[in-house]
Amino acid sequence: MQLYSNSLALTALNGGICLLGDYLVDVNQESQIRKAICDNATHAIVGFFGGIVLILETNHRAAGIEQIALVVMSVLVSSFIDIDHFLVAKSMQLSRAISIDRRPFLHFTTIPLVLMILIIPLHQWIHSPRLNLWLSVFTCAFLCHHTRDATRRGFTLWPFGTTKPLPYFVYIALVMTIPFLSDKWLNITTNGGGQYRYRTLEVLTV
Ligand SMILES: [Zn+2]
Repeated sequence: MQLYSNSLALTALNGGICLLGDYLVDVNQESQIRKAICDNATHAIVGFFGGIVLILETNHRAAGIEQIALVVMSVLVSSFIDIDHFLVAKSMQLSRAISIDRRPFLHFTTIPLVLMILIIPLHQWIHSPRLNLWLSVFTCAFLCHHTRDATRRGFTLWPFGTTKPLPYFVYIALVMTIPFLSDKWLNITTNGGGQYRYRTLEVLTV
């Protein structure tokens, strides 16, 4: 059996996942644990589809097993960013983790922005397309997570401050767009730009 999907369809699906995930977070307001599970699962699924779209757009630079590893990393990064709430609270209790009085450090959008800029000198010094690709998937997952959070709290641009919360549909549009922008940035920083085409994923199963 052959399954074909293209990155635009996966992107539309990712937008739908955001809407559904936010709805589930909304209807589970009375239960902290259910709300946290819905929110984190949405982050993870957004990271899953966002990672696939970015890898498709990079024109299959990575081998099959590496593509799977990249998607797994994207899911893990998307999900585990919220662990910093527990680290800052110095507690594994959810009630303490969500009542900390400041944005925890993994929610500083300065981190993925600096990493994105670092791709430029790293490419000059090390010239490793593989490292650039891994960094791009890593920062893409970071930015999608921060963008989802930004609709409630804005972007934390430590040490400069915090932006206003993003309007809801701007956040949805950004989450859908970030994998394409990440590919474009990767292309500009490593290849000096080039032709842009939507890619098609082909998964072969027995
Ligand atoms: Zn978060």
